[in-house]
Amino acid sequence: MFGRMPKKSDNTKYYEALGVSKSASQDELKRAYRKAAIKNHPDKGGDPEKFKEISQAYEVLSDPEKRELYDQYGEDALKEGMGGGGGHNPFDIFESFFGGGGSPFGDSFPGGSGRGGSRRQRRGEDVVHPLKVSLEDLYNGTSKKLSLSRNVLCSKCKGKGSKTGASSRCAGCQGSGMKVSIRQLGPNMIQQMQHVCSDCRGSGETISEKDKCGQCKGQKVVQDKKVLEVHVEKGMAHGQKITFQGEADEAPDTVTGDIVFVLQLKEHPKFKRKGDDLFVEHTLSLTEALCGFQFPLTHLDGRQLLIKTNPGEIVKPGQFKAINDEGMPQYQRPFMKGKLYLHFTVEFPESGSLSSEQCRMLESILPPRASSHLTDMDLDECEETTLIDVNIEEEMRRKHQQQQEAYDEDEESSGPRIQCAQQ
Ligand SMILES: [Zn+2]
Ligand SMILES: [Zn+2]
Repeated sequence: MFGRMPKKSDNTKYYEALGVSKSASQDELKRAYRKAAIKNHPDKGGDPEKFKEISQAYEVLSDPEKRELYDQYGEDALKEGMGGGGGHNPFDIFESFFGGGGSPFGDSFPGGSGRGGSRRQRRGEDVVHPLKVSLEDLYNGTSKKLSLSRNVLCSKCKGKGSKTGASSRCAGCQGSGMKVSIRQLGPNMIQQMQHVCSDCRGSGETISEKDKCGQCKGQKVVQDKKVLEVHVEKGMAHGQKITFQGEADEAPDTVTGDIVFVLQLKEHPKFKRKGDDLFVEHTLSLTEALCGFQFPLTHLDGRQLLIKTNPGEIVKPGQFKAINDEGMPQYQRPFMKGKLYLHFTVEFPESGSLSSEQCRMLESILPPRASSHLTDMDLDECEETTLIDVNIEEEMRRKHQQQQEAYDEDEESSGPRIQCAQQ
């Protein structure tokens, strides 16, 4: 009877491992994983197999694509798709979940602290540079060559600073590299401050004058000019960072920091960008709005786009129109583009530019006036009024100012009054 039914794929195991329903939200999954992982962590006496299962379940279910595959076809579908040979180390997931060094188990937790054996090395500072780019740069992609000077370890002494390698303990800091200064802040308060020893610049050692390396004069580093080519890729965004790892100042016993460029978008006179979309403001005459128009628009790559209405189409003031695939390219998927939106303003003719004859002609084409149904009797019952021109912004500003002055006067009058004494 059930002969033709395919083998039921198991797609509930992961949900059971985390103890959630199949409709659990990402938030619920996260909470369930956190609870289960801490409870079952091998460091806390949990079963390593169980911990692995929980981590694997979370890895799959927290990824919407993998979750969908799993829901449809079960675990087997993932084994082919996962690549890289059988998933990740459960500790990696755990670490990334709890944010690297901040493991809830402190330093005893494997993988929770330190990276490799170079814990004692200081890390040099990152150098951050703003990099001005135009919208054209972000649309087309570009590369900019920048010449930067930086410290590099002296090649002659290999960063030792001395010809012979001999050095002695710095007298300024007794070899610690740090100096402590004490500042009196008040009668019973002192502030203790630690700073890098200026005599040895933190190295804790000094080199005698005759031993100093001829190239770096014992400084261990020399200035070097380097040209960096910064590739600004299509679709990058304002504020995005481009990092050159380990290209900042070199210093002895220090892991060199990064040079980081932060993109600063210059405003474009015509195009505004919002995500993957571009916006252009365009003003139409009333005739164009009613009868149609066409005009060329120079795009960010220099192409001329012909923007035109469909026959008989009327564009209203404030209306938006869009062109597909003429927006910004997506970062790292530049063949995918957003929309180009056009926002239309309609400029009406000046008052008095139409004669009564012209008005009659327009009336014969355009919809009738709303007033045409009013009878003389209706009109007799109305009071006459006159519409005057106003500059609304100016008037509102003046009103606001008057209010402010009245308020200020109130404030003053609530204080001590100075009265003129009547003589
Ligand atoms: Zn010193
Ligand atoms: Zn040197």
